[in-house]
Amino acid sequence: MKILQDYSLNELQELMLQYGEQKFRAKQILDNLNLGKSISSFTNISKELKGKLLNEFADLPLKIYTEQHSKDGTIKYAYELSDKNIVEGVLLSYKYGNTLCVSTQVGCRMGCKFCASTLHGLVRNLTAGEILAQVLTVNALLGGKIGKHRKITNIVLMGMGEPLDNYDNVVKFIRLVSAPEGLNVSPRNISVSTCGIVPNMYRLADEGLPVILTISLHAPNDTLRKSIMPIANKYKISEIIAAAKNYFNKTGRRVVFEYALTDGINNTPECASELARLVKGFPTHVNLIPLNEVSERDLRTVTHKQAEKFADFLKKYGISVTIRRTMADDIDGACGQLRNSIVEEK
Ligand code: SAH
Repeated sequence: MKILQDYSLNELQELMLQYGEQKFRAKQILDNLNLGKSISSFTNISKELKGKLLNEFADLPLKIYTEQHSKDGTIKYAYELSDKNIVEGVLLSYKYGNTLCVSTQVGCRMGCKFCASTLHGLVRNLTAGEILAQVLTVNALLGGKIGKHRKITNIVLMGMGEPLDNYDNVVKFIRLVSAPEGLNVSPRNISVSTCGIVPNMYRLADEGLPVILTISLHAPNDTLRKSIMPIANKYKISEIIAAAKNYFNKTGRRVVFEYALTDGINNTPECASELARLVKGFPTHVNLIPLNEVSERDLRTVTHKQAEKFADFLKKYGISVTIRRTMADDIDGACGQLRNSIVEEK
């Protein structure tokens, strides 16, 4: 079944004309969708139009399958899609607002050694509307509406999947969620995280969407990177850095590098100085993440002390750096963990 949330206002207007309906119905439908409503619960359109829609479109693109609440307030959701596939998301609440982490694919084909999302490969891409529906569903669950009554203030594409491996749907999602007649989340409050698919980093720089580009680097040289991230066999770190500089030049946005600290692998002082040399010279920020240990994977995390030591090395080189607070490690916090536990149960 098709996904109604894939449609922009213009596309809904065309659909109404095809249906022989009046154009203004499109906005009524969009207003309902923005509130996270299922087609069958729309109250301001005729039974006949509802019937036509339900013939063609899933009543709801997804529903919440389970929730896990962490002691630190983080909530992890598993969503069931209309074809019964499961994807996951995380809601992080801060003083300034709520950040929702969304998935872009069912599974992932990137094969990173430390990541649970990729253990069973890629099942399929999510459509733009399925990514959007994650935001609409949680926004509604929190009692949010649209515009300034929105509850979701920031979005990070850091759930399951590689966003730049599902490029067209991801860009369409960003356009839909930032549209004034949609939730109207500024692209400036949206982060797109990538393992470094270089050609699509260049394309993204030219979309006119000033999102934050976050690059999962995790290693400061190609040899080490190849041992943990297969994508490193395709693109060199030097190519990633060149694409990151281009992104900054085109969008004016500083680029964020993610670096998951793994004990004995990438946390030596030599790694820190190599990393510093890479990210120096243009506006960047390094986000250190103590590895979230995944039971299927044989990699160990670092202590907070070790992470601070690594951060101090980087600071000496004048690098802007933060250590991401480890959240939700009492639940299936690492991306892909919750889905894996559900798929195994199912
Ligand atoms: N595919 C995208 C986005 C999804 S993952 C990417 O690679 O950026 C979001 C972030 O979590 C990435 O930086 C990813 O490398 C990191 N990550 C995955 N598994 C992790 C784990 N077990 N511990 C810490 N970070 C992890």
